[in-house]
Amino acid sequence: MIKKKIRLVSSVLTVLLAVSVFLFINRYNSSNEQFEPIIEDSLQVASHLPINREFGLAIDSFVVTKERIKPNEFLANILLPHHIDYVTIDALAKKSKPIFDVRKMVAGKTYTILASKDSLQKAQYFIYQPNAIDYVVYDLRDSILIYEGQKEVEIVEKTAAGIINSSLYLTLQENEVSPALAVRLSEIFAWSIDFYRIQKGDWFKVIYDEKFVDGESIGIGEIKAVEFNHYNTNFYAFHFKQGDNDDYFDEEANSLRKAFLKSPLKFSRLSSRYTMKRFHPVQKRWKAHLGTDYAAPTGTPIMSTGDGVVIESARKSANGNYVKVKHNSVYTTQYLHMSKRNVKVGQRVRQGDIIGFVGSTGLATGPHVCYRFWKNDKQVDHLKQDFPSAEPVLAENKAAFDLYLKEYKQKLDLIRLQIDLMAAN
Ligand SMILES: [Zn+2]
Repeated sequence: MIKKKIRLVSSVLTVLLAVSVFLFINRYNSSNEQFEPIIEDSLQVASHLPINREFGLAIDSFVVTKERIKPNEFLANILLPHHIDYVTIDALAKKSKPIFDVRKMVAGKTYTILASKDSLQKAQYFIYQPNAIDYVVYDLRDSILIYEGQKEVEIVEKTAAGIINSSLYLTLQENEVSPALAVRLSEIFAWSIDFYRIQKGDWFKVIYDEKFVDGESIGIGEIKAVEFNHYNTNFYAFHFKQGDNDDYFDEEANSLRKAFLKSPLKFSRLSSRYTMKRFHPVQKRWKAHLGTDYAAPTGTPIMSTGDGVVIESARKSANGNYVKVKHNSVYTTQYLHMSKRNVKVGQRVRQGDIIGFVGSTGLATGPHVCYRFWKNDKQVDHLKQDFPSAEPVLAENKAAFDLYLKEYKQKLDLIRLQIDLMAAN
């Protein structure tokens, strides 16, 4: 079991790394967009020289110190060497509280000190950046002035493409690449592609936004369109917003997400809910019930509540005859106490397929199915899960979606895979 888990985890990591490695290469191949510094036009005209501005301040008129807060370094350690006395630091900390609690300054975060250009080089401004976008300015010149600001985020549309080829993984392993994009892709396709089973030769093209602050990437924004070729089948994903709902749709305007059936039985009576504490009818003691029981006559067909692969089909003392179905990298379901199982391990099942029949094998007082639900390897109450609506693009939004689809499908077609490039050379 542990071995299996390790194998699973390592295969996921391999996939993520392989995918991200390709992204890395292609990002550098396909998008050489140079980042233009933001210069305020009026200032440029006035001086004919670009004035270096940061945090809304002309930083060229100061001695600039940019550092990261070291472990166990406090505001006093930082400001005392820049000729700010204890009294001022104490006043600053107090005054700052409603805006930003200086005790929340964290080691590793960036701060900037703008000091006077005279012989004293006394700090005039102290600026703390809790993250790449936000900053807090402490104007130390006369009375202390404290205000917050936000850096301008530039969004650049980028493309990436790659062919999954595990052999390249070793060569490129040394590159430090954020797997964020690969993780997002696996989430978008969670309902249609099993990322545990991605194979050599699968390929993808993706159009996404990347966010930049001061010319440096701070992460991935929206993923706008994806074409994923898995086992020689094309899967598309187009990002589209309907009202407040963000979703991904295929080229036929259907949602990529599929809802689960509410219950594994067509006609049933909910006989015992998921609870952390219930009196067990057979064991006669209080214990957690991490499933939902549906009572029905022996022999009633039990359906798989979603598409997936059978990962267990066996008989165990407490479970009796049971089947476990893995739907994607997030969701797994299990069905207990069957009179008879109808599927084998490794078998692919569709939503609604009959995987077994109601019985009372194992620890059961009467015929019922105990339905268990896992989300990210944790058992949860499926009745309390907020499942995707899986609605297609609404009729009133169809025209707008079709325009978006046309534009982005064309863009995807223009992205070249390495294999095309090689053929062209
Ligand atoms: Zn149960």
